Amino acid sequence: MKRNSFFLIGSLAVGTVACGGKLGPEPPPVTMVSETTGKNPFKAVNFFINPDYVESVDSTAQKHPELAAKIRKVEQYPTAVWLDAIARVPRLKGWLDEAKKQQDAKGKPTLTVVVLCNLPNRDCAANASAGELSVEAGGEARYRSEFVDPIAEQFAAHPDQPIVAIVEPDSLANMTTNQFVPKCAASTDAYRNSVVYAIKRFALPNVSVYLDAAHAGWLGWDTNREKMAKVFRRVLDEAGGPDMIRGFATNVSNFTHLSNRDGAAMALTNPCPNELTYVKMLAETLAMYGMSGKGFVIDTSRNGKGGIRRSWGSWCNVKGAGLGERPRAEPIRGVDAYFWIKPPGESDGVSDPAQPRFDEMCAGYDAAPGAPQAGEWFEPYFLDLVKNATPPL
Ligand code: BGC
Repeated sequence: MKRNSFFLIGSLAVGTVACGGKLGPEPPPVTMVSETTGKNPFKAVNFFINPDYVESVDSTAQKHPELAAKIRKVEQYPTAVWLDAIARVPRLKGWLDEAKKQQDAKGKPTLTVVVLCNLPNRDCAANASAGELSVEAGGEARYRSEFVDPIAEQFAAHPDQPIVAIVEPDSLANMTTNQFVPKCAASTDAYRNSVVYAIKRFALPNVSVYLDAAHAGWLGWDTNREKMAKVFRRVLDEAGGPDMIRGFATNVSNFTHLSNRDGAAMALTNPCPNELTYVKMLAETLAMYGMSGKGFVIDTSRNGKGGIRRSWGSWCNVKGAGLGERPRAEPIRGVDAYFWIKPPGESDGVSDPAQPRFDEMCAGYDAAPGAPQAGEWFEPYFLDLVKNATPPL
């Protein structure tokens, strides 16, 4: 996951227009509202602890007795579960059943955060997370019937449990700024239709949907935020209105710091030098386009340290990263939660050029060497995240 650096060039070229002033169209009437769209689903709940993730962490702790006590602290924090292939969908039942057990054991609602990441032509501006479905080979229909439908059925089959669905990291942002990449241009309708379909299917009382909204270093520029807001607005209009979703997820799998200036020189042209500023300004832009009162969840899995990359566009296993703020509800006003959406320790992409899905970002100057395929456990990297955790573990 996480785009190449092209978008930054595009962003810089267009991103210096002053913010504000423009008013969007009136919101359409709401047709159907999930019970949870109006409230923060992260509040007053426990979070599902994924035993699969705990297992990876624990096996690393066993191999590193000198750090084991610190490493094991990670096991108490929740991570999202990722559905990145049709073959992975059957695992959802197991995770939700396990979450139900945790819920019953503690006698408190237990929230599971699920990331959908399998659009046809996925990762259209990069290679490392290229997926299994293609637009040309009927991927849109398969995305609906073999991916979204069975996920929605599982959500519906666990009606007593709160669920957050984070829909398709990078997808609509790629529509917004990377149209000059032929694969992105060719994916526009499929991305939009697929996201609309997922939103409609997840209109269930126990499910809160967040659309991915990239991060400050991608969409922070005024022009990009405005373009993004228009894309969101069109998607939501087609899905039944802005109230069909709870909000937006930002910084997913990225490294942008919450409050320090990130991106070095790049930040000079960007009114959003960090993630908290971005979320605030994005909320204002969205409101101008009739999408008010939305919640934001920020991925803080790996953004504890700011200023670690030479280029803000570096997205792959960035060296020197540390775990960030611990997952929690409503850390500040306007933010629903900080959450570890990217399970810390899982790779962003393979660093060996001879391997399939190699993306040169993963062998670039900011990338940690020796990385396995996206999603696989990258132990030395996990150890660094633990050592560099800020705040410390
Ligand atoms: C990868 C997925 C993986 C996810 C979480 C993404 O970048 O493409 O395969 O599940 O990260 O680690």
